[in-house]
Amino acid sequence: MVISVIAISLALAIVFATPEGLFANPREFFVFMVPLIVTIGSGFVLHEMAHKLIAIYYGGKARFRMWTQGIVFMLITSLFGFLFAAPGAVYINAKRITERENGLISLAGPALNLILVFFFLGLEAVAPIEQYYSLLLKWGALSIDIGIQNGVFNVWQFGAAINLLLALFNTIPAFPLDGSKIFRWRKSVWLSFTAVTLIIGYAIIGPTIILNWIILLLIVFIFSKLAFG
Ligand SMILES: [Zn+2]
Repeated sequence: MVISVIAISLALAIVFATPEGLFANPREFFVFMVPLIVTIGSGFVLHEMAHKLIAIYYGGKARFRMWTQGIVFMLITSLFGFLFAAPGAVYINAKRITERENGLISLAGPALNLILVFFFLGLEAVAPIEQYYSLLLKWGALSIDIGIQNGVFNVWQFGAAINLLLALFNTIPAFPLDGSKIFRWRKSVWLSFTAVTLIIGYAIIGPTIILNWIILLLIVFIFSKLAFG
């Protein structure tokens, strides 16, 4: 789990700082990884813990397993400016697990990310933290609001945005993402949760999030069909 958290934070740091940034200013790059571990790391760990807790509640055995290939793939895509968050997942071992239980276990992860969105927005309201990274200067004119502007990194606003993105990514109804199991259990639950997440995304990140999600949905869907049938 620790390796997975470091890997996902490293991949995200590469996406924002680019590989050139890493080699040009390694010291700043590793300082930048600290708030990323706090924001995306907590989002990842608590997401997996939520799956695990609900699985145990339903009498299953749950274990986190790191995906070495997923980590390698994630680090490679990050070099091209894209984060495909796949460093590992919770595996559930249960003799009898109903479709409903499986749906609820799957929903727990992205639901926890939504809770974290509000937690980070709360922190932003009471104790905002702004840091400056020259590595982020290239993101001066971002069309989406994820707490990065002209080198200024707003930690809690970024935490809210990244957890929203984690929730949204996982709603995609393609195997092995959580969305596929929620969708299989009850389409109305999937649709309501996805709609709520998109609305919150629209409010805190901006309208382009909806188009981006649809494009990502198509890419992941095609990828999932090719890889898993
Ligand atoms: Zn999940």
